[in-house]
Amino acid sequence: MNFLRLYCILFSLNAFSHGTVTSIDDFEDLNRLINFPDTDKYHVVSADLHTHSVFSDGHVWPNLRVAEALRDGVDLIAVTEHLELQPHISDIPHKDRNRPYEIAFNAAKESNLIVINGTEITRKFPPGHINAVFVKDANKLINIDRSRQSEVEEFIEALPDDLIQEYIDEPWLNDAVLAALWPIEETLLEAKQQNAFVFWNHPAWSAEQENAEKVLTNMHIELINKNLINGIEVVNGLWFSDEAFQIAIDYGLTMIGTSDVHGLIDWDYLQRPDGHRPVTLILADKMEKNSIKKALFKGKTVIWYKNELIGLEENVLHLVNSYLKIINTSFKAKTNVLVVDIKNTSDVKFVLKVNDGTSIENGASIFNILPNTTTSIEIGNSFSKKVNIGVDVLNAYIKPNTHPSTILTNH
Ligand SMILES: [Zn+2]
Ligand SMILES: [Zn+2]
Repeated sequence: MNFLRLYCILFSLNAFSHGTVTSIDDFEDLNRLINFPDTDKYHVVSADLHTHSVFSDGHVWPNLRVAEALRDGVDLIAVTEHLELQPHISDIPHKDRNRPYEIAFNAAKESNLIVINGTEITRKFPPGHINAVFVKDANKLINIDRSRQSEVEEFIEALPDDLIQEYIDEPWLNDAVLAALWPIEETLLEAKQQNAFVFWNHPAWSAEQENAEKVLTNMHIELINKNLINGIEVVNGLWFSDEAFQIAIDYGLTMIGTSDVHGLIDWDYLQRPDGHRPVTLILADKMEKNSIKKALFKGKTVIWYKNELIGLEENVLHLVNSYLKIINTSFKAKTNVLVVDIKNTSDVKFVLKVNDGTSIENGASIFNILPNTTTSIEIGNSFSKKVNIGVDVLNAYIKPNTHPSTILTNH
C-alpha cells in the first residue's frame, strides 16, 4: 500500500465517523419538517423530551436520534436513558451516565438542534417512571448502596412474573434493584439541586401495568406538593390520557407530550406528512436553553399529538389565533356571499365548528382549515367585508372533552 493510498484511507474515515450527523443525514424533506412558526409573542420550540438509545433499552446509537430530529425539524431533544435499566451493558460497559448525551450533543454541534441532558428514573409504581431533563450530571442521580444487598432477593420476588421472566438472568438486574432502592424523594432532591425540570412519565400506563386502583397516589401528591415533580406526560408515544390531563390541571403541572422512542421514529409514526411524533410545543421568550427551561417551569406548553393540540386554554388559543388569519374577504359577483380566505401557517389541520349561527355556503357548519395553505369559506347573507365567525376548535382540547372557542375576525 503506498503512502498516498494509506493517507486517503485514514482521512476518508472521517466520512464514516459517528461523530457528526452530516455523514448519515444530508437530505432535507420539506414535507417532513414539523412546522410551527414563532408567534409575535413567543418562540415556538418543538421539543421531544423523552428518547432512548442503546445506552439503556433503545435500539439505536444516540447520533441517530439527532439525525431523526433534524429530519423532523424538531428544535430540541432530551437524551433520557433509564438510569437503572441497561440491557446492553455487557456490549456497552460504560460507567458514565452522561455519555449518550455527549455523543448526541457532539453529533448536533454543526446544526441548530438543541440537545439537553436528561435521565429516566425508573421505579416500580408508585411512583413509576420519572424524567429529569436539563440535568447537569446524570451520574449523581443513581446511587447504588451495596450494604442493602440483602434486600435484593426480596425485591425481585415481588416483581411481576412477566418482568422476572424477561430479566431474571440479566447480569445488570442486581445493580438495577440496588439503584431502585434509593428513595425516590432523595433522587428527586438531587435533580432539584441540579435545577432540573422533572416530569412524571406515562402515569396511566404505569398504573395499569401494576394493576393499581388509581393513577394518582398519596406519594405522587406529596412529591408534587414538595415541588419535586413539575410536569406530567399527558401524551406518551401513541398513548393519551384524560386522567393525566386532569391531574395536570388540578395540580398545576406542565403538560408534556413525548415520543419515548426506543426504535425508529419512522417505524413508530410512519412517514410525514400523515404521521409525526408527538411533540411538546414550548412557548419560550428566546430559542435558548435557559429561556426554554423557564417556559417549562411556567407551564407554557401545548402538546401536538396526532392532529390534536392539547394544553391550557391560554396557550392553545395563543397558537390557534396566531396560526389562523383572515387574509382577504371579497364578495362573489352580484351576491351577498362573502368569500373569506383563511391562511393557516401551521402543520395542524384545524377542524372548526361554527358556534354563532354564521351560515357557511360551501360546506357544513363543521369545516376544515388545511395545514400550511389558505382555505376559502363562503358566508351567506353578508353585508360587510368585516367579518366575525365564532367557532369551536374541535381538534384542540383545554380540558378533558372540552374544546376551546375563538372568533375568526379581520378587524
Ligand atoms: Zn418509562
Ligand atoms: Zn422511556
